[in-house]
Amino acid sequence: MEVEGRKSADDFESKVFVCIHPTEPLPFKLDGEEEDDLEIEGGKINLNCPISGQPMVDPYINLKCKHVYDKTHIKEYLRGLRECPICGIQMQFSDLRPDPLTKKRIIFNTRDLELEEIRKKTIDNNEVDKL
Ligand SMILES: [Zn+2]
Repeated sequence: MEVEGRKSADDFESKVFVCIHPTEPLPFKLDGEEEDDLEIEGGKINLNCPISGQPMVDPYINLKCKHVYDKTHIKEYLRGLRECPICGIQMQFSDLRPDPLTKKRIIFNTRDLELEEIRKKTIDNNEVDKL
């Protein structure tokens, strides 16, 4: 029971963290989870699919190596090669699971980008008013 309580507390903390910092690695380890092993560029987590280079829509994690890809693209990729496109480990579609944490990162990151867009537009409009 105690373990379950801790696990849901970790889960809650990680949700709150990604809500505020959608592209930053978790600063703590999740119980029983490997280190967040997403591709990190300049300290930020890459939310693009490693196969297509496009922003992920439906992130799936490989339970064997913890790499994350977009479901559509990894499904297509596995028709040809039965290996991880990043590290080359042998895999099949049944090794993949939906990745809810990455999904949340994507949702919150999209929100941040939209807010940034609105902020820029607001500033632009103010500049125009001044002229
Ligand atoms: Zn891999």
